[in-house]
This record gives sequence, C-alpha cells and structure tokens, in this order.
Amino acid sequence: MERILVVEDNKGLAKIIARRISDTLKFEVDIAHTLREAKLFLKKYNYFIALLDLKLPDSSDGEIVDYVLSKDTRVIILSGTIDKEFRESMLKKNIIDYVNKSGIHDLHYIVQSIQRLKKNQQHEILVVDDSMIIRKHIQRLLENLQFNVLMAADGEEALETIEKNPDISLVITDYHMPKMDGFKLIQEIRKIYKKEDLSVIALSSNSDSEINAMFLKHGANDYITKPFSKEEFSCRINNTIEALENLHIVTRHANRDFLTSLYNRRYFFSNMNKYIKETLKEDKNYAIAMIDIDFFKKINDTFGHDNGDNVIVELANILTSNTNQHDIVARFGGEEFCIVLKDIDKAKAESALNRLREKVEKTTLYSDKNEKICFTISIGAVMNSDKNLNETIIQADSMLYRAKQSGRNKVVFA
Ligand code: GH3
Ligand code: MG
Ligand code: MG
Repeated sequence: MERILVVEDNKGLAKIIARRISDTLKFEVDIAHTLREAKLFLKKYNYFIALLDLKLPDSSDGEIVDYVLSKDTRVIILSGTIDKEFRESMLKKNIIDYVNKSGIHDLHYIVQSIQRLKKNQQHEILVVDDSMIIRKHIQRLLENLQFNVLMAADGEEALETIEKNPDISLVITDYHMPKMDGFKLIQEIRKIYKKEDLSVIALSSNSDSEINAMFLKHGANDYITKPFSKEEFSCRINNTIEALENLHIVTRHANRDFLTSLYNRRYFFSNMNKYIKETLKEDKNYAIAMIDIDFFKKINDTFGHDNGDNVIVELANILTSNTNQHDIVARFGGEEFCIVLKDIDKAKAESALNRLREKVEKTTLYSDKNEKICFTISIGAVMNSDKNLNETIIQADSMLYRAKQSGRNKVVFA
C-alpha cells in the first residue's frame, strides 16, 4: 500500500490528521514530530505525498520543505501562518498546496486533495503552446498534480496527437500559434469530440474579456488568463477534470446495469440502432441471442437471493470474457441477457454460443455457506434479417422458449 507522511509536532493534531486519512483513503500513514524523524522515515520509505508543518522543534523556518522536495516527494504545507508574503514565497516552491490548518474543514479539503491527486494519475492532458518555456512550465505544474502530460507545438501537431491518443481527457491550448491557432484547433476538436468526451481549456495572454468569451463560444470548457497563479491553475484544471468525471459517472448510470455493470436495455437499443444502420451500408452480418438462466427460481430458493445475485454476476463475467470487445452484452432484466455477436456468420455464431453454454455448464460457484452452486443457460438465437430490431428480438425470444421447452441447457438457432 502507498504511504503518506505527516510531519507535525502537535501530537494530538498529527493523530487526528493521520486517522482521518487512513479512515477515508487507502494509504498507510506515518507520523513524524520532528525534521530528524521525518528524515529517518524518508530514508526508509517512498511517499505518495508528505503533509508538512513548518514550525517544528528542530526546524522552525520551513527548512523541511526543501529537504522533502529534494527527495522527490510531493508536498502539501500545513501552516498556522497566514502571512501573505511568506505564503507566496512557499508557493513559489514546487509544492502542491499551502493549507491553513485551522479546523476540520481544512482536513476535509486535504483528504479531497489527496484523493484528487490519486485520480489524476488516470488522466492524460495535452498541452499545446508554441513557446517551449511555457509548455515546460505547464508540464511541471501538471506532473506535480500527478497528470500524464503530452505536448504539441501547434494546432496541427495537437490534432495528430489526439488522433493517436484517444484517451486524452483535457487539452490546454494557447491562442496565438503558427500553422493553426487555438480557435481553429478548438473548432476542429469539437467536430469530433463533444464537451463531455474531451475538455478544452484555452490560455489567453489577453485580459480582454471578448477573447475569453470567444473561446467559450468556440467550445472551450474554460479559460485561464496568463499570467496565472499556481493556485488558480490547479483549481481550474482540477475542476474541469472533476466535471468530466462526473459526466462519465452520470452516463455510466444511464447506460449500465447496477448489479453487473453490463449495458442495460436502454443502451442496447440506442447502440444497436446505430450499428444496424452501419451494417446496411457495409453488408455485415450479426447474430442476436437471448439468454436465460435455467431454473433460476430454484437457485434463489435453495441458496438465497444474494447467492442468486452472485450467479447473475458470474454469468455476466462469463459472457463478457468469452465474447469479442466489439460485441454487445446486455442485461435485459432479472436473469435474462441479450448478446449481439457482430460481423459473424451463422456457423461461427452457433459454435460461439454453444461454447458459452458449455462454459457455464462447467462453472462451479460456492455459496456463502460454501455449498456448490452449478447452473445452466438456455439460448435462443437468430441471424440479422430485414426485420426490425424489435421483431428480431421477439424471434430470438421464441427460439429461447423452444430451447426451454425441449429440455433447457440448449442453443436453438432459427
Ligand atoms: P426457467 O428455466 O424457465 O427460466 O425457470 P426460472 O426459474 O429461471 O424462471 P422464472 O422466471 O420462473 O424465475 C426467475 C426468478 O428470478 C424469479 C425472480 O425472483 C428471480 N430474479 C429476478 N431478478 C433477480 C435478481 O436481480 N436477483 C436475484 N437473485 N433473483 C432475481
Ligand atoms: Mg508546529
Ligand atoms: Mg430462467
């Protein structure tokens, strides 16, 4: 487990901070009360971050900050000092944040900041600026906030980089650049990516509010006016990334089933209607299969509802791990699933479905009381036809009914 170092000579406060962190976050926390103790810990362990009090018995002027930074460890300063000049001098160092430790509210803020840093590791940000000095400066700020950073010197290079790296979460772009400027770049990005897919923050060297409004109208999520303070920069970047994450959570809730995380019926239909339009143009074939667990009521009655849920989750895992990534696996409700095998002929689809059926038959689960649970599935399937999607599914459903009628644990293909 990753570790956090808390350096604070007030023993009571150190304990409160450490407990709050280990209660809410998955980190080991070490406490040092002096610079000497902190040095010993830093010799022994690598830390994700160090929270540093500036007034310690053996270091009363913040010497600890330079020491910890020299060990390539990220720093959040916890300070009782609100002196503006001192604060600014500390913020000039490569620290992440400067927090006044004046109550429980700040503790909440610190925990959230650490959580944010951890999540930032999953995001890639592209910095687009023709000035290498500014690119490097922003790169340093972003890497300190734990982001993965890519860089481009103009709009054209940026578009190539985005194409090669579709996982980029945020583009930070300058306005004046050779070849393609910031406005044009944002317009090009918005032709492909919506605001909820890829965020853009514009950098303007002008405090002219018209330019900033123009950026927003061209599809930027936010703007930052140069020169900016490190704190403003961090807040705006983090806010934009957080908004993007929240949108993803909402979309996920709308498209996915809560128990299995599979696609739900609603998503299935919207995705399939799109796919069917494509297949008409490209003359591709696909198979639709309705899948239902056999005698599931009996599993619930014998092992209880929670173990029944585990069976549903297990089946979901079998279906996703034994189909291709571009296939669709959806839970329609209860113990009923629908899958689409894309770009396939009937013979291959039939053997793929039989493999799924056999895989399930050979699977053993254990209940919470360690009882063996085995189960089987019945499958009704059809190839695509000129029927509409609803009619095709009804046909697959009637094949499923036949599979049930003729003994279960079977695939019946129309
Ligand atoms: P058949 O072989 O004909 O499909 O019989 P069956 O018992 O599987 O089918 P039936 O439709 O009679 O029963 C399905 C049961 O699934 C009834 C319902 O209580 C249960 N069920 C539906 N949704 C869930 C769920 O999310 N979790 C659990 N544990 N049970 C569920
Ligand atoms: Mg102190
Ligand atoms: Mg059933």
